[in-house]
Amino acid sequence: MPLQLYDTYTRSVREFEPLHPPEVGMYTCGPTVYDYAHIGNLRTYIFEDVLRRALVFNGYTVKHVMNITDVGHLTSDADTGEDRMEKGARRTGMSAWEIAEMYTREFQADMARLNIQQPTIWCRATDHIAEQIETIKCIEAQGFTYRTSDGIYFDTSKLPDYGYLGRLDIEGLQSGARVDRGEKRNITDFALWKFSPPGQQRQMEWDSPWGVGFPGWHIECSAMSAKYLGTFFDIHCGGEDHITVHHTNEIAQTQACYGTRLANFWLHGYFLQIDQARMGKSVGNFLRVQTLIDAGYDPLAYRFMCLGAHYRSRLSFTWEGLDGAQTALNRLRAAVYGWGEAGAPDEDYVDKFSGYVNDDLNMPRVLALVWDLVKSDLPDATKKATMFFFDQVMGLRLAEWKPVEEAIPESIMALVEQRTAARKEKRWQDADALRAQVAAAGYEIEDTPQGPRVHKHA
Ligand code: AMP
Ligand code: ZN
Repeated sequence: MPLQLYDTYTRSVREFEPLHPPEVGMYTCGPTVYDYAHIGNLRTYIFEDVLRRALVFNGYTVKHVMNITDVGHLTSDADTGEDRMEKGARRTGMSAWEIAEMYTREFQADMARLNIQQPTIWCRATDHIAEQIETIKCIEAQGFTYRTSDGIYFDTSKLPDYGYLGRLDIEGLQSGARVDRGEKRNITDFALWKFSPPGQQRQMEWDSPWGVGFPGWHIECSAMSAKYLGTFFDIHCGGEDHITVHHTNEIAQTQACYGTRLANFWLHGYFLQIDQARMGKSVGNFLRVQTLIDAGYDPLAYRFMCLGAHYRSRLSFTWEGLDGAQTALNRLRAAVYGWGEAGAPDEDYVDKFSGYVNDDLNMPRVLALVWDLVKSDLPDATKKATMFFFDQVMGLRLAEWKPVEEAIPESIMALVEQRTAARKEKRWQDADALRAQVAAAGYEIEDTPQGPRVHKHA
């Protein structure tokens, strides 16, 4: 079955075909680096990583671009409030540039821990100010902008199908809104360029044809995706919250400027929730990968947990759930390890697997197939090769796993040596007493032709 993906733009499952085969251009909205990423954010990046692996599995090469939002994302998605970076800088006592650098590194480390592949191209918003200014100039030339006292705004009423991606009820929003619209003409209008507040010098600000200031949050993705992937490319992804605001506005900008809806497919990962609420940086209920490690879990157990839910349904995080995922992963690893040398994959299982992956990334079905395979009576070598085949897309690093040889304490090793000496001297009673002492401490001695081997009791 060819790859089928759910496209939010058309609200339908469509067969995926690259615009310029065999290459696929894929843009994923990256982190706002004013704080650590939480495991909710990372659920979205795991989904995108599985998507990318599925594309490669289908024989395509993927040019994957991810941005880093290091300026312009205000505390409210409606372009009000403070810049998250400047706020983060005040909170930590570091400069906005330093916190961007630090949290970018932390994010990349978390990706590595979860076996999320690095994009082909990383791009920072602050490295692309000129491109963003050019894109705003282009939107202005098409007549879609207006000026208020605090910035240059996009007039959404001028775009007939503004809000199509989110199926926004523009009239309802406009009339029902109690929110203060300020100088904005329409409730859905958004900032392209914000002026630095009068009399205040921001840490991050630039000259522009409209005045000193900084770009709005959405313009970076239109400008950078066009630069690296062209003005109409294959796939654009993000979390479900991006549907109604960020991606809607990215599409508006690109439509105004280039007349395209930016991407052929729009894919969205659904939220990780905790206690029935969305996990969010600004909500303050968030867990980090480091929190899971500190509690004794392997980050890949979290990846395993994410694979157990379809990306288009919300997933509730519980510690019991993570515990179950860790146990299941441990079992799987031990089974795969115990199968010895890999042979050739089983055709039937490979066919089923491809069908599930290509059915809009049905990873829960893939996990069920994993356990079928474990329980099957296929030869171990076949099982092993088939599981490694699955792992191309699951990304659980099954081939790298080995049981940890636990270090035996020196005091125990000293007793073992004394026992060896006693045996050589045929002092059998002493030898038995020493073995009993070792056993009482929780270790077992196995005598092999190569000498004694010591294990911890299971
Ligand atoms: P941010 O760093 O806030 O710009 O978000 C980074 C990515 O995480 C975006 O794709 C968001 O849509 C996504 N995201 C935010 N919160 C969650 C959540 N609770 N679960 C899943 N994805 C999320
Ligand atoms: Zn974006």
